[in-house]
Amino acid sequence: MKTYSIALLPGDGIGNPVTEAAWDVLQATAKTSGFSLEGTAFPWSCDFYKQTGAMMPTDGIETLSRFDAILLGAVGWPAEVPDSVSLHGLLLPIRKAFTQYANIRPHRLLPGVSGPLKSGAFDILCIRENTEGEYSGAGGRIHQGTADEVAVETSIFTRKGVERILRFAFEQARMRRGKLASVTKSNAQKYSMVFWDEITRRLAAEYPDVEVTSYHIDAMAARMVMAPESLDVVVASNLFGDILTDLGAAIQGGLGFAASANINPDRSAPSMFEPVHGSAPDIAHLGIANPIAAIWSGAMMLEHLGETPAAARMVSAIEATTKAGIGIIPGRDKTETIARAVLERL
Ligand code: ATP
Ligand code: MG
Repeated sequence: MKTYSIALLPGDGIGNPVTEAAWDVLQATAKTSGFSLEGTAFPWSCDFYKQTGAMMPTDGIETLSRFDAILLGAVGWPAEVPDSVSLHGLLLPIRKAFTQYANIRPHRLLPGVSGPLKSGAFDILCIRENTEGEYSGAGGRIHQGTADEVAVETSIFTRKGVERILRFAFEQARMRRGKLASVTKSNAQKYSMVFWDEITRRLAAEYPDVEVTSYHIDAMAARMVMAPESLDVVVASNLFGDILTDLGAAIQGGLGFAASANINPDRSAPSMFEPVHGSAPDIAHLGIANPIAAIWSGAMMLEHLGETPAAARMVSAIEATTKAGIGIIPGRDKTETIARAVLERL
């Protein structure tokens, strides 16, 4: 029997209960799908930081590199550890070390969930460049604290980086409904965004079966609200993708339903799967965190591992759960009630 080794990083706050719920559902799925999942949990978190002075041990990345995939809950406890320490000490180093350059997030309304839009069904896959662009951290400040102070933040777009994310997006579109929306702001940013558009056009010739359209970020933000059903795969840079996927989470009914994956498409290192939400300190001790986003992220992990029917079964169980009205009203159902409902429907 095939066995996958999974590193579990529950992290902080609600990352713990939702990862536990996702793991229970994953185990039950594996048991009836002819493969097994062997999980190893690591306590790397803000608590770990308070005890040891680091978010993970110095050989943390090396340890994780031996796993087939990583399932993460949430990282951050801003009241005690600044986000600049927690995110830069755990989440970001993993994404970078394992070249997880594609951050993907499915946005659609699960049955029974009412989003804020009047529109009908939509099914969007947002793909965000995860390693460079506007979040490269290049820049600086001069004349600090004076009236002449200047801050510069440089976006870095490399041919290699842009090409690989666009190629990944074309491949995803090909496996879905064959439509790709590439998002830039090339009317205002004449170097990086024009570069991105050029590469999009060049790759389009290699994918004649994919219908590709370029949009400006402002127009795309409006389109996701006004006509989300017109979209299939949406690809954008780090910053634009960050913003659009929060919009996507909102139109799909909120963070309780927003799943994500940090993918290394070349499979040279493990990919990481995590709900979009953070540690949610305000509800962390109430037992009402919605585990659906984490369970869905777990299904994305199985899909990435090649266990497509098992992943589909997990998604069906989630859909049957929300269709029955469970987990659709924020704060009403307990985490374990929702998890149990998904397990029963597997
Ligand atoms: P981060 O900085 O880590 O992104 P954040 O402060 O932006 O965190 P989250 O922790 O993601 O925000 O959550 C924002 C709010 O949404 C939470 O305070 C909580 O009330 C709600 N929320 C988030 N995730 C869930 C969930 N799974 N179930 C229920 N409510 C949630
Ligand atoms: Mg946030």
